[in-house]
Amino acid sequence: MEKDITTWHWNTTYLTVNQQLFSKVLPTHVLSPRLLLYNHQLAKELGLPNNLDEFELSALAGNGLIEGSEPIAQAYAGHQFGHFNILGDGRAILLGEHITPSGKRFDIQLKGAGRTPYSRNGDGRATTSAMLREYLISEAMHGLGIPTTRSLAVVGTGDEVYREYVSEGAVLTRIAASHIRVGTFQYASKYLPKDELLEFCAYVIERHYPEVAEEENPPLAFLRKVQDKQIDLIVDWMRVGFIHGVMNTDNMSIPGETIDYGPCAFMNGYDPATVFSSIDRNSRYAYGNQPSMAQWNIACLASALITIIHDDKEEAVKLCQEVINDFPIAYEKRWTKMMCSKLGILEEQEGDDSLIKDLLHWMEANKVDFTNTFLQLLKPKNEHIGIYGLADFQAWFVRWEERVSHYKREEVLLLLEKFNPKFIPRNHLVEEALHQAANLNDYGLFNRLLEVLKAPYETQKGYEDFQEPPIEGDGDYRTYCGT
Ligand code: AMP
Ligand code: MG
Repeated sequence: MEKDITTWHWNTTYLTVNQQLFSKVLPTHVLSPRLLLYNHQLAKELGLPNNLDEFELSALAGNGLIEGSEPIAQAYAGHQFGHFNILGDGRAILLGEHITPSGKRFDIQLKGAGRTPYSRNGDGRATTSAMLREYLISEAMHGLGIPTTRSLAVVGTGDEVYREYVSEGAVLTRIAASHIRVGTFQYASKYLPKDELLEFCAYVIERHYPEVAEEENPPLAFLRKVQDKQIDLIVDWMRVGFIHGVMNTDNMSIPGETIDYGPCAFMNGYDPATVFSSIDRNSRYAYGNQPSMAQWNIACLASALITIIHDDKEEAVKLCQEVINDFPIAYEKRWTKMMCSKLGILEEQEGDDSLIKDLLHWMEANKVDFTNTFLQLLKPKNEHIGIYGLADFQAWFVRWEERVSHYKREEVLLLLEKFNPKFIPRNHLVEEALHQAANLNDYGLFNRLLEVLKAPYETQKGYEDFQEPPIEGDGDYRTYCGT
């Protein structure tokens, strides 16, 4: 057998940032670690072992430390549903930063690894079901080509976790470009003097946006970069019907990855007002609100940076405002371009806007499936069945055919296939897979779903039922946070 020479290559620069921004802490010992999932493909990409030895497996549950790891919990704050709170890693522990063989830096974090100085009243733990959910959806997002934190492993702890019901705990190993959030800057801005905030900002710039270091006003250029990344991310979410569900500023990543898969879900029937999260009572984070909420969060980042953007407060506000005001304009532009691509339109023309909006209005009025409607464009007319065969859709379809007739058929098809997934993690399948895995220890459906979602743009014979929304609709489907 070939010897596994891959290894953990720690190099944790976060230990050098201002001491107020983190606490050294060790994961809490668990009863009996048991490997539930290991992402071999990701391990390979990261240059980590293809198989965990017994010690490594235990370490990924919090029992023992892999050599060179100096764990910390990171401090941050955040606006949660609009209210400012001091937070921090309450159940997550950063093992450190790992350097891949190609020189890339990633955070390796344990989620559900026990209490930290930031736990407040929480137990520091996570249920198996919640960690499997994060694993499945984050890997699905990756398969969809959307920036996201990744999931390396889930290890069962053998300990009980108490929620509305008792279940087994698990620890997720989460991989991220970093776990620096908008909320990290809110915390830094509250507790650090201006020069130390500037120093932290310089650290983050060097780590994630080194190109802005040479700009005339690096913090301002940084703000614009983060905004830019977020716009791209939200456009991607909108493209596949993803609803994050808890877009608090502590859950908005500075490198622009989707982070924190608590109550997220995918929309079936198209309706911009769709909300699944049980705690989002005012529909703050509804599908259609995501762009404006992202802008709101960027405004919070701007507030946190204000003192280092300009000495004169009025001038600083003006500079920030110029950036933030560009959000809706840039978003609209990129959203329209994305929607054109979803319709196989190579270059936007006058009138495309109404072609897009008319389709969305029809979809909303009829609550038709968001994902599957776009797949109709890959089919000839005579294969349109059910609601797609009726006059309304057909009238629109004729307009669309006429519009794309300017282009070569192969080019249109290529674009359609690139922008329209055939598979998304359907909520009802995700729930069933989680139930079978977490409660019955049967990973059959979970693994099949995971496998299919690795190639969501491809036709996969035998998995047609994975493409269907639930026959009875979403009903009162609800997702829960922080479980
Ligand atoms: P979230 O909404 O999941 O991003 O979490 C918000 C805050 O609550 C973060 O500071 C988390 O670390 C903390 N938190 C969530 N669940 C727990 C838990 N079980 N124990 C301790 N802290 C938690
Ligand atoms: Mg969070």
